[in-house]
Amino acid sequence: MQRSRAHASIRFALLATAVAGLACSGHGPGEQDAEARAAAGIETVDDARLRNATSEPESWLTYGGSYAEQRYSRLDRIDATNVGELGLAWSFETNTKRGLEATPIVVDGVIYTTGTWSVVFAIDARTGKLLWRHDPAVPRATAGLACCDVVNRGVAVYAGRVYAATLDGRLQALDARTGEVVWSVRTVDPSRPYTITMAPRIVKGRVILGNGGAEYGVRGYVSAYDAQTGELAWRFYTVPGDPSKPYEHPELEQAARTWDPSSEYWVVGGGGTAWNSVAFDPDLDLLYVGTGNGSPWSHEVRSEGGGDNLFVCSILALDPDSGRLVWHYQTTPGDQWDYTSTQDIVLADLEIEGRPRKVLMHAPKNGFFYVIDRETGVPISAEPFVPINWAKGMDRSTWRPIVDESLDYENEIVTIMPSPHGAHNWHPMSFNPETGLVYVPAQESVFFFKEDPDWEYEPGSWNVGYDKTILTISPPDVVSGHLLAWDPIAQKEAWRVQYAGPWNGGTLTTAGNLVFQGTAHGTFAAYRATDGAVLWEQPSGTGIIAAPVTYLLDGEQYVAVMAGWGGSFPLSAGEAAKAAGVHDLTGRLLVYKLGGQAKLPVHEVREREIAALPADFTPEEVQAGSDTYHRWCLVCHGPGAISGGVLPDLRKAAPEIYDSLEAIVLGGAFEGNGMPRFDRWLEPTDVAKIRTYLLARRARMLAGDPSSPR
Ligand code: CA
Repeated sequence: MQRSRAHASIRFALLATAVAGLACSGHGPGEQDAEARAAAGIETVDDARLRNATSEPESWLTYGGSYAEQRYSRLDRIDATNVGELGLAWSFETNTKRGLEATPIVVDGVIYTTGTWSVVFAIDARTGKLLWRHDPAVPRATAGLACCDVVNRGVAVYAGRVYAATLDGRLQALDARTGEVVWSVRTVDPSRPYTITMAPRIVKGRVILGNGGAEYGVRGYVSAYDAQTGELAWRFYTVPGDPSKPYEHPELEQAARTWDPSSEYWVVGGGGTAWNSVAFDPDLDLLYVGTGNGSPWSHEVRSEGGGDNLFVCSILALDPDSGRLVWHYQTTPGDQWDYTSTQDIVLADLEIEGRPRKVLMHAPKNGFFYVIDRETGVPISAEPFVPINWAKGMDRSTWRPIVDESLDYENEIVTIMPSPHGAHNWHPMSFNPETGLVYVPAQESVFFFKEDPDWEYEPGSWNVGYDKTILTISPPDVVSGHLLAWDPIAQKEAWRVQYAGPWNGGTLTTAGNLVFQGTAHGTFAAYRATDGAVLWEQPSGTGIIAAPVTYLLDGEQYVAVMAGWGGSFPLSAGEAAKAAGVHDLTGRLLVYKLGGQAKLPVHEVREREIAALPADFTPEEVQAGSDTYHRWCLVCHGPGAISGGVLPDLRKAAPEIYDSLEAIVLGGAFEGNGMPRFDRWLEPTDVAKIRTYLLARRARMLAGDPSSPR
């Protein structure tokens, strides 16, 4: 929230340099564009087009539809009166069965999108014909470092190139015409468990990119790379490093005062990873970046329970030229619940109490909806948009949450709302300037927290510092999701569409008085933006988590969405995620238009017969197996070994799998499928315990007792 005083002069100096550079340079971005345009064979995207993306609604030029990330389209040929005639125009199968999170980019008749394992597709926007496919060959062992599935949220396009990040931490510039790699840079230290799932953004000729990994133990940062060359322009670390070494930039000195050095936070990394949200205000010349949770989760473990731990769970306003901090606002000081602020940041101009305000809107995991003055970083309002219990309210003099200290989880198990899946996760929200409403994929969930008294840092492994074995108490059952239409000025709910489960898709809103959203239970729907009336809905084959986009070609408006069930919730929530009722996991890009007649291909899902296997174990053996399983396998295979529908259900494996567990778990036999090897941490005796647990769980399932994790 504090504006850095020293910064103003630095900024002025940089501005002067930039202006001078512009005047002297004989080779401005415009000329390079012209060359690339000719080479690419498609009309290219330059800074002016990116700045004016909203006035070019026939395209979808950036991740959030514009630098303001409103995900609002001025297209209105499909509207509330005719959306009932919407039908499938064509579909494109990605040949994957895991989460699809990408927002497609549409420019000049071509769709650029991504699938699992960071594969990039260029597809004819009229027909669905594949133009090219780029597979960056992500090592499959990287899956073991990815908290939240082997997903990717899409690309950026600029000057004839397509920019995409890879799960294993590379940033690549591809020739938009062919998909060939123009340049590729490694953006992370490969010895640390960094991953990248976010869509890069292009701001002033640079590629803005962060990374993830805070569940495993990394130090967060956001970088800017020269879009032409891939050269690093600047890097802003979101948390301080080893204090015995010089700080990379002065803001870290300020940040370090909010950490307890006796915890040696820099060994694990501290977190604060900027893994998703970026917005840009060209007029204020401010770049907004959301940062993630502290690492490990436990504040006690991370910082002896003291200090705000800047800049975790914060919004950072950076100077896009220098990468220096202009202001910050921390949504969850001293985070201990995985309350990332990496949820999308939406810029809008609102009239509040008779005054026009330039705001940013943000609905992070912690459950507060923030309306913040985006020039100063001072909140204007902040109210819970779902039931929460970690905070009792907001102190409006300091804009700090009033944390409920009685819910300390150092020594006892406490129930916290929202869960680490968040009141809202990465699934993008949208803002419609005509209705004045924000459409949030909201969710209600609880989680049991307790610090792990035996926690020790295990490099490259899950390092959150909570006791995962307590998650067997009972499956999280207070989980639901809804499409929330939120009035940001009144800070109250306008309407909602209730769903059975959470983890529904991102939203798109249009000038046709519509909101589009895919659901976890495998449908794609259109609602009237003013009141939430369901106007159209069709089965989508599989659960949708991504956000739709819309575009115009030959006078026809299309709506496109990636359909592919996955991400952290289906991996880790077992029975609760399975309730989404997803059967066919075929990943696809679905594209709709009025009168579309295409049929969604149906893939038969046949349940294999599950043979009974010997499972004569003592309760103690099962308990030991449960503890080992939940410590090491839960995050991807679900509590109670119940699959949430993405990875194979380990209770239902072919009999020979249980005899091959050592080769799989320790030897990496299935590494090519994304099953990491655990021989760094586990012994054959541990694998035997896991085997015991899986067989016991199988027996219980066959006995008709599927849900209790024990
Ligand atoms: Ca996290």
